[in-house]
Amino acid sequence: MADLERIAHVADLVAARAAKGEHLAVVVSAMAGETNKLVGYARGAAGEALISDGFDDEYDVVVSSGEQVTAGLLALALRRRGLKARSWLGWQLELRTNPSHGRARILGFEESGLPEAVDSGEIAVVAGFQGVTEDRRISTLGRGGSDTSAVAVAAALNADCCDIYTDVDGVYTTDPRIVSKARRIERISYEEMLEMASLGAKVLQTRSVELAMNHNVPVRVLSSFLPPDAPNPGTLVCSEDEILEKQVVSGVAYSRDEAKVTLFGVADRPGVSARIFSLLAAKGVNVDMIVQANARGDKQANMVFTCTDRDSQIAREALSAHQKEIEFERLEVNRDVAKVSIIGVGMKSHTGVAETMFRALYEKGINIDVISTSEIKISVLIEAAYTELAVRALHTAFDLDAA
Ligand code: ASP
Ligand code: MG
Repeated sequence: MADLERIAHVADLVAARAAKGEHLAVVVSAMAGETNKLVGYARGAAGEALISDGFDDEYDVVVSSGEQVTAGLLALALRRRGLKARSWLGWQLELRTNPSHGRARILGFEESGLPEAVDSGEIAVVAGFQGVTEDRRISTLGRGGSDTSAVAVAAALNADCCDIYTDVDGVYTTDPRIVSKARRIERISYEEMLEMASLGAKVLQTRSVELAMNHNVPVRVLSSFLPPDAPNPGTLVCSEDEILEKQVVSGVAYSRDEAKVTLFGVADRPGVSARIFSLLAAKGVNVDMIVQANARGDKQANMVFTCTDRDSQIAREALSAHQKEIEFERLEVNRDVAKVSIIGVGMKSHTGVAETMFRALYEKGINIDVISTSEIKISVLIEAAYTELAVRALHTAFDLDAA
């Protein structure tokens, strides 16, 4: 939704689908750059205290407004094309969220009349990203949250499919800006997409994939740039059993927003880890990889964990304030690291995947710092400078390069 011209284009896309007799709810995001601008205004008015100190409900009032504008504009553009359409804001949908302003979670929908309106053939233009709390305050769902709004609306309406029109024409095996031979994926399972999204691929908000998986809503990622009649195959995100050709590795993801926190010389006794991570949890630090290893005999250990760059500062403060109590010698934060991951449901049943990955990195002279795995992914932490090299090497090693 970049500007008025793009809104007209979206109106054409919607009109073409309505002409086929489809009943539609269209969830909109704000115009390009608009939410960033609104965040900037809120910061300017509130100062640094924003988000943390009880200002966050008003932050949501400000940043949610971008979607109100586009919802109204698209409804107007649809009416101009002779279609029946109206806008729906979060509070009118009764899209209920918890009170975690700025990153609220959807609880459900109350009675709103939306399904009846859509059934009657009126196009519902829904403002994405926004909801309303129990005590009638506006909330927002976190950056990229209109994806999640769209899936939630699709689930509530029992829709056949949730189509996400975006600025890319599908989900790629990796970031095409790094690997020019990256390929568009035809179909990907919810689990894989969830890993891809949480490991750094920015096509869909992670929560939207979670929600789609829980409600079994197929999601199509489509290009919003193509004319209405052009082929637009995109990527289908669906359940694993709807995918016949299973890849061992479906994609390579990376994230540079990583920091490694090391606690040297931590007392090695029961309860220390629990204490460390409860201090971090209390500050809302989202910890990712964790490694603990014995150092110097058995009385002391080194504890390593990773989190986002921003959280690493919070972690440093939280832990340093309790250095005596936890009994560690020294704390080090290294923000010059990146996480590179391979993802694929095929890993469940194939051996040698880790070996292929580690060998490919070794052959490029890349040192692996921390490793973590799940059933369908392997992630490594490496020096940030090697990110692109690692992504390219892995893309080739797992035969993902386009011919
Ligand atoms: N406008 C919001 C954002 O920029 C929500 C979205 O675009 O999905 O994060
Ligand atoms: Mg978005």
